[in-house]
Amino acid sequence: MTGFLGRPKPVFDLDPVNAVELIARMNRGLEYPGLKGTIKHQPSDFFTGVAVSPFKATEAEQMIQYFKLKKKIAAGVGFVVTQLGYDVRKFHEALQFIKQCAPEMPVVGNIYILPFGAARVMNQNKIPGCVVTDKLVAELDQERSAADKGEGGRLLRAARMYAIMKGMGFSGVHIGGHNIRYEQVEQIISDGEALSPNWRDLVHHFDYPQPNGFYYFALDPKTGLNAETPVRRQGLPLDAPIGFSYRMSRLFHQLMFEPGKNLYGLMGALSRKVEGSKLEGAYHKPEHLAKVLIFDCHDCGDCALIDVAYSCPMSQCPKNQRNGACGGSFNGWCEVYPEKRRCVYVIAYARLKHYGEEARLDGDSVPPCNWDFYQTSSWINYYLGKDHTAKRTGVPEAKQ
Ligand code: SF4
Repeated sequence: MTGFLGRPKPVFDLDPVNAVELIARMNRGLEYPGLKGTIKHQPSDFFTGVAVSPFKATEAEQMIQYFKLKKKIAAGVGFVVTQLGYDVRKFHEALQFIKQCAPEMPVVGNIYILPFGAARVMNQNKIPGCVVTDKLVAELDQERSAADKGEGGRLLRAARMYAIMKGMGFSGVHIGGHNIRYEQVEQIISDGEALSPNWRDLVHHFDYPQPNGFYYFALDPKTGLNAETPVRRQGLPLDAPIGFSYRMSRLFHQLMFEPGKNLYGLMGALSRKVEGSKLEGAYHKPEHLAKVLIFDCHDCGDCALIDVAYSCPMSQCPKNQRNGACGGSFNGWCEVYPEKRRCVYVIAYARLKHYGEEARLDGDSVPPCNWDFYQTSSWINYYLGKDHTAKRTGVPEAKQ
């Protein structure tokens, strides 16, 4: 990556859910406090789209993708576009899932005209989020030895995808690829239109499941696509270990942080007492030290441990995602540290699922980190209702 005179610093303050919420507010006429009262902007007119990947091999990654998509839809998105992929059962899964949540939502299918070189790179997971199976790479390898170097096969594949997507009920398609020409796109559309009346006969051309890959819906053997009922996820194995530290964190949480229970009242009273006093530093330091040792805390002060099943998104997620995983994870691993570090949301899902609580990740959106709290006591901010958890916990929200 390059930028102006070097590499830019990544900025991940607003995740996609937060960005959609911001744009929705801008479209209504953004209001914010000014020196002389509330300032209101003219309403903007953005038509917001978001992406979703149905091409996740593990249950945890796939469910997190869908939970996050539901937050984006609730935030006011205008349309959804899928990640590129070649398993049509997965395209069907995404479409059916979205239609069950938001029947009127326009969904755009992604058709990438796939040459052998790109397929091989994607197959090696060198383009995060783009999944091409061994079987498809082998087919493309054969195709490229044809006189046209595989162009006819590539365009036919894209036309068949167009036909299937139209038949399934996608609102449109995005046709992409490198160095493609206008005439090629025209050919895909006209061939796809001609093929679309018999789209069901083409489904078998796109049977590219990932090894032991998870599907949200049960298989419909008649069509090769999905039945309307979700698979039973309860008995499926966890995608990550639970860990001793999580078990301890739960106990600690019950002891200290559950409103109205155990030490909560005492900690609240103590927090009120020390806030703004000389003792505040002495209160904050041991809290922060303990959290550094256990969670590699970065002292953001607007603590999201409770949202991510006691993994810190500020230190353990390179993109600081607070509303669910990005689309780049692969086989449960973080996009930035493949096969070295599990995605924090895969860990969170597994931890919560062990206790039958994974639906907690399928809730209200989490706001961006409030940097006003940076290097302040997250416990004080929690007990005094200053941080983002106040609405959920029912702690009276403090005036900022
Ligand atoms: S979310 Fe913030 S306060 Fe909580 S552990 Fe991470 S950096 Fe520390």
